[in-house]
Amino acid sequence: MELWFTEHHNDSIGYSLKVNRTLNSENTQYQKLDVIESEFYGRVLILDGILQTTEKDEFVYHEMIVHVPLFTHKNPKSVLIVGGGDGGAVKEILKHDSVERVVLAEIDDRVVENSKKYLPTISCGLYDEKVEIMIGDGINYVSEHKNEFDVVIVDSTDPIGPAVGLFTEDFYRSVYECLKEDGIIVAQTESPFIYGSLINKLSKMFKNIYPIVKPYICTIPTYPGHLWTFTMGSKKYDPEAVDVNNIPNIDTKYYTPQLHKASFVLPKFVKEIFEEA
Ligand code: SAM
Repeated sequence: MELWFTEHHNDSIGYSLKVNRTLNSENTQYQKLDVIESEFYGRVLILDGILQTTEKDEFVYHEMIVHVPLFTHKNPKSVLIVGGGDGGAVKEILKHDSVERVVLAEIDDRVVENSKKYLPTISCGLYDEKVEIMIGDGINYVSEHKNEFDVVIVDSTDPIGPAVGLFTEDFYRSVYECLKEDGIIVAQTESPFIYGSLINKLSKMFKNIYPIVKPYICTIPTYPGHLWTFTMGSKKYDPEAVDVNNIPNIDTKYYTPQLHKASFVLPKFVKEIFEEA
């Protein structure tokens, strides 16, 4: 009998993958965690029934959440990731020679341990000596560190459970304090097809805090609606003013210097969601 995993995006839409086998299922302190092997996308991490990352398409999300801010900043040395326990963002950050310190503030150690065990191609950077893994609520970590990071990446689950607080103005203000004077924050801000009103709300919050606020997009096959948004808040650098001819060549599959610029060109309805904020 065929086995399928279906993520229910809302009450009327879902997305299904054919499953070869289940590698692990457990209830952690915070969420239900499953790792499956799917026929097409390879191994998949699922939290509370929501697909987090797959071996086959993880590169799109992780390259775009990392390389756009890190190549916008002139000299990123210290980077904080809030969430991101699968290690995919860490793997991409380590491709930047300027980076000396990466802190991963992840609430659920079981995400880290399962990724190390079942998703080695995604979690491989977690063993690097530049990486500090802090298990605990990222909200607390941010509030306890001031003027410390060049870039903060909010690589969170959807705004449910422990991630609710990561989608609030108080949190983005706290990140502002945690950043150095020319720091940059990037947050994954969900699908414009499904979470338009949330994106609009988040955009308002960013504009209340950061002098430069720029949303950008990419296309992720396994995420709801496929078209995905990130929102960047910057104290000094404009991501669209980056000289693409000066971006060093690194090993990527999705990100290119030209795409860096192009990702800020938004479809009209997405632009309206952000501009109306
Ligand atoms: N790329 C993914 C997506 O959009 O589906 C997110 C990946 S990553 C696995 C998200 C992580 O955020 C999870 O491991 C979850 O445990 C973590 N997380 C949720 N709330 C958190 C919080 N308050 N502090 C730190 N980590 C948190």
